[in-house]
Amino acid sequence: MASLTREGHCLCGAVTYEIEGPETWACHCHCESCRRQTASPVTTFLGIPLDRFQWTGARPKTYASSPGVTRSFCPTCGTPMAFQADRYAGEIHLYAATLADPASFRPTFHVHYAEHLPWLVLADDLPRHAGFAPES
Ligand SMILES: [Zn+2]
Ligand SMILES: [Zn+2]
Repeated sequence: MASLTREGHCLCGAVTYEIEGPETWACHCHCESCRRQTASPVTTFLGIPLDRFQWTGARPKTYASSPGVTRSFCPTCGTPMAFQADRYAGEIHLYAATLADPASFRPTFHVHYAEHLPWLVLADDLPRHAGFAPES
């Protein structure tokens, strides 16, 4: 299989990254913390093993949003870039809209759907988990 390298960047272009190979999973998150950090009703994540991910430009700043959880963002333009948590050691969860080509993947489920905003109506028929995704 040909190696697949994907890139991403923040709004101003200072923070950049590179991913080798496919994501482990891709999903929409409706939790309130993501909603606040991204100032958007829902956000979409790519799960990537840390050993196939690297920051390639300016390093993002990090914010500890709850115990064991850090969220990173561009220190210049403020674009949210990634989520990391002790419970997901070895993974980085990228805000997928920062990909250079955000159409290059398909989300396959929703998480924290119990927190979704009632005025956001999505027509997909993907599984909607009330909280975290069940362990696969
Ligand atoms: Zn930036
Ligand atoms: Zn979330």
